Amino acid sequence: MFETLSDRLNGVFEKFSGQKTLNDENVQAGLREVRLALLEADVNFKVVKEFVARVGEKCLGQDVLKGVDPAQQVIKIVHDELVELLGGDTTELNISGSKPAVIMMVGLQGSGKTTSSAKLANLLRKQNKKPFLVPADVYRPAAIDQLQTLAKQLGIPAYNSTPDMNPVDIASAALAEAKEQEYDVVLIDTAGRLHIDEQLMEELATIKRNVTPQEILFVADAMTGQDAVTVAESFNEQLEISGVVLTKMDGDARGGAALSIKSVTGKSVKFVGMGEKLSEMEIFHPDRIAGRILG
Ligand code: GDP
Repeated sequence: MFETLSDRLNGVFEKFSGQKTLNDENVQAGLREVRLALLEADVNFKVVKEFVARVGEKCLGQDVLKGVDPAQQVIKIVHDELVELLGGDTTELNISGSKPAVIMMVGLQGSGKTTSSAKLANLLRKQNKKPFLVPADVYRPAAIDQLQTLAKQLGIPAYNSTPDMNPVDIASAALAEAKEQEYDVVLIDTAGRLHIDEQLMEELATIKRNVTPQEILFVADAMTGQDAVTVAESFNEQLEISGVVLTKMDGDARGGAALSIKSVTGKSVKFVGMGEKLSEMEIFHPDRIAGRILG
């Protein structure tokens, strides 16, 4: 992940070392390469354009420090802008307030929704919360079984849904049970389709109305690049998502989804999936990722 981008950007910085100052000529040449590196990493072209413009402005602006090595200045500017692109500060999960907090997991089939639901429940339990897993994907064969099995492995309680039930009913009944059992967080694994369809969105909107979730997390497969961003936009328009879980960040995706999704949707990545194991989910820290890209 990010390897090619990393190499390309470091190549750009190297060209600045040995130069005396930042000037119009060397900055423009550097920016051209940064632009190409980002486009090659499959970053949204509008996002790239704005990024390059901001970096250019800063490189040639008044805040450039006299007497500091031009390469170091450019690295610092690109680093800060990458942090912004990735969402700025780490965005916390909003599960405060009255209990139980409800989290809806939404996204396309195969994105990693079911796995991420279990991973997130595991993470929350480590923070001394009492999570409750709710399998509500009645369309994908075996999705309910899959989540119930993962819940058992983790020793986390799960709602006893069956495939003949209606997802809207499952969500409401599970919430009632969670209240009774005094669980802290309800995680609803909703159904995904191979493509967005109206019926799915309506069903999700109905669940949203019925259980008033504090978080609607869009689960996106980082390997699908700009497609993930387009689908996120669509889910956001129709459901108003509150954040993103980027899965399969352990793969060799070029990084375009991670670097575009916040700018395009306005919603931050909150967690990343780093492998198939249930322990392989991390809180997303923009500064650490930026550091990794430039490291
Ligand atoms: P769903 O259809 O959205 O519920 O998707 P699943 O949770 O069943 O995940 C689809 C596949 O992706 C499974 O084989 C998962 O093990 C795998 N998967 C999910 N998250 C990750 C991740 O972060 N890294 C890797 N390598 N695989 C993942």
